[in-house]
Amino acid sequence: MTNYNDLSSVKKRITILGSTGSIGRQSLNVAKRLGCTVTALAAHSNSKLMEQQIRQYKPSMAVMFDKKAADDLKVRVGDLSVKIMSDMDGLCEAAAVDTDLVLNSVVGMVGLCPTIAAMEAGHHVALANKESLVAGGEVVMKTAARCGVNILPVDSEHSAIFQCIQGAPPNRAVKRLILTASGGPFFGKTIEELKAVTTTEALSHPNWRMGAKITIDSATMMNKGLELIEAHWLFNIDSENIDILIHRESIVHSLVEYKDNSVIAQLGVPDMRIPIQYAITWPLRVNTEVKELDLTKYSLSFYPPDYKTFVCIDACKTAIKRGGLSPAAVNAANEVAVSLFLDRKIGFTDIGQLVIQSLEYEIPVANGSLEQILQTDKIVREKTLSSAKKIKR
Ligand code: NDP
Ligand code: MG
Repeated sequence: MTNYNDLSSVKKRITILGSTGSIGRQSLNVAKRLGCTVTALAAHSNSKLMEQQIRQYKPSMAVMFDKKAADDLKVRVGDLSVKIMSDMDGLCEAAAVDTDLVLNSVVGMVGLCPTIAAMEAGHHVALANKESLVAGGEVVMKTAARCGVNILPVDSEHSAIFQCIQGAPPNRAVKRLILTASGGPFFGKTIEELKAVTTTEALSHPNWRMGAKITIDSATMMNKGLELIEAHWLFNIDSENIDILIHRESIVHSLVEYKDNSVIAQLGVPDMRIPIQYAITWPLRVNTEVKELDLTKYSLSFYPPDYKTFVCIDACKTAIKRGGLSPAAVNAANEVAVSLFLDRKIGFTDIGQLVIQSLEYEIPVANGSLEQILQTDKIVREKTLSSAKKIKR
């Protein structure tokens, strides 16, 4: 039985993968405030910030995926006894270090193997890294069930749904999930107008400050497509029963409609520290530094999405309906396309076209294995890169 008055259990031991990023940095702050101990940290190449985090949080292990950055980090923290590793082996070893919770906030499908490694080691996972669930949903959910571990959503919409179903009867009384979407910086624009938008414009999100990849995903609305697939796996609900609703103010973070047509929503100011903290403290709730919501200050608006202009949403719907390796394919194409767009090598609307094309690529027949997902990811990345080279600008 959970003792809801005993708040000492929120002082967990926590490993944070992607600790130098937007979610990772906020997670460290939340963890510190809760009195958690940091067991291991991992990131890609920002060894300077990793050095600061090691000195402040004193993990027993730190990983820089990039080998050169790991070598640099070894020199920087040569006076300390922290173990430093690199590459995927390092990430998976960090994920498996003895701890109470692994918070995975790396960006991209590179988070898949560490998510599985954490579960195989018997750890609960707080998941921000949606790409690992999009590409490997079935494997991830089956591994979680087999290992008897929880996946606690960090993504704000999924945290909202998770909060709305607390205490719900287990008899599938949920009729529909409604994911809210801010609509991003290009809400209301036409395809023609989108052709001309710049990387700088796409990087200015109206409501959230996030890493570059998810900011572009929000601008194309691929983010909502990825989140639809994420919700399908997390809540075991048919994708036909997941709707998307544009809500410009990002105050209602998502809703659950029950069979009796009663709708339960979760609201709060747009601040990721709320879902991050809930993933760490669940099922308990404790105080935060986050501002209270004053509803008199907002006028809330809701609109249907423009599926014709924001083509990535339907591509994700098609992928999850087809099932198998299709979600891994659209995710891989999107990761490559976003990176090319950030490097100013393709235009904004090319991202959607490359994602749609990936649905036509020949990919292995699915047997649901991790190897096949990784192989599909590799094949689709190569094909997307070569398709992108043919785009005339
Ligand atoms: P950022 O780009 O700010 O941070 C990404 C983090 O991942 C950095 O720590 C980066 O390290 C690390 N990283 C990148 N590649 C690797 C790798 N190969 N191995 C190890 N670490 C790696 O992204 P966000 O924090 O914004 O997003 C992280 C995840 O959370 C994404 O999946 C995103 O979709 C999801 N998310 C984010 C939200 C947000 O508000 N930001 C909201 C909901 C979900 P380095 O700094 O060294 O490059
Ligand atoms: Mg989200």
